[in-house]
Amino acid sequence: MENVKAPTRTIRLIRPPNTDGVGVFCLDIDGKCQFYTFLEIRCEIGGRGFAVHRLGQGELYHVRVGAPEDRSCECLGFLRWGRCKHVAGLAALIKKGELPTRL
Ligand SMILES: [Zn+2]
Repeated sequence: MENVKAPTRTIRLIRPPNTDGVGVFCLDIDGKCQFYTFLEIRCEIGGRGFAVHRLGQGELYHVRVGAPEDRSCECLGFLRWGRCKHVAGLAALIKKGELPTRL
C-alpha cells in the first residue's frame, strides 16, 4: 500500500502587528513559504476575526478563530471541508501566545 504523507505545514510569525494592527505571517507548506498580511478586526459573533491577505495573489479572506462553532473562513478549502490552513494557522499562533488580542 502506498503511504501518502500529509503535507507538512508550519506557521511562523514574521512580523508582529504594528501600531496599525497589521502583521505578517508565513505558512510553510512542504518547504514553500506563503506570506500573508493580517489585521485583527472586530468580531461581534464569537471568536476573533482577522482579515488575511495573501501577498502577491490579491486574495483577501475574513477568518474567524475560536471555539469550533466560531471558526470560519471564506476560502474554498473551508467552504468544502470546514477547515483550512488559515484558521489552523491563526489558531496555532494564538495558542503559542504570539497574537495577544488588541481589540
Ligand atoms: Zn481559509
